[in-house]
Amino acid sequence: MPRIGTVIFMCWRDDALCAGLGPGLWFSHSQTKSGRHAISICNICPVRKECLDEVNKLEGTATRRVGIWGGIGPYDRAAVSKSNTEALEDN
Ligand code: SF4
Repeated sequence: MPRIGTVIFMCWRDDALCAGLGPGLWFSHSQTKSGRHAISICNICPVRKECLDEVNKLEGTATRRVGIWGGIGPYDRAAVSKSNTEALEDN
């Protein structure tokens, strides 16, 4: 039987605009053409808030230090506090 946390994670991922597009764009540097394209998709994604919530739960892990999550790349994520990241969720 799957854990409840796993079920919740998979539910929001079903609506992710990046689902099925492959990970390449989201693991490029946020200042490159590919990275900017990924961020533009994130900015209209219906589960951007859930995505940012998920990456905020990963504070201190290696996973949080890679990839574009919710339109924010790892360098920008490292530069802003969790509370500032949560403020971005409202945009
Ligand atoms: S916000 Fe971006 S990275 Fe997060 S689920 Fe949506 S498209 Fe994927």
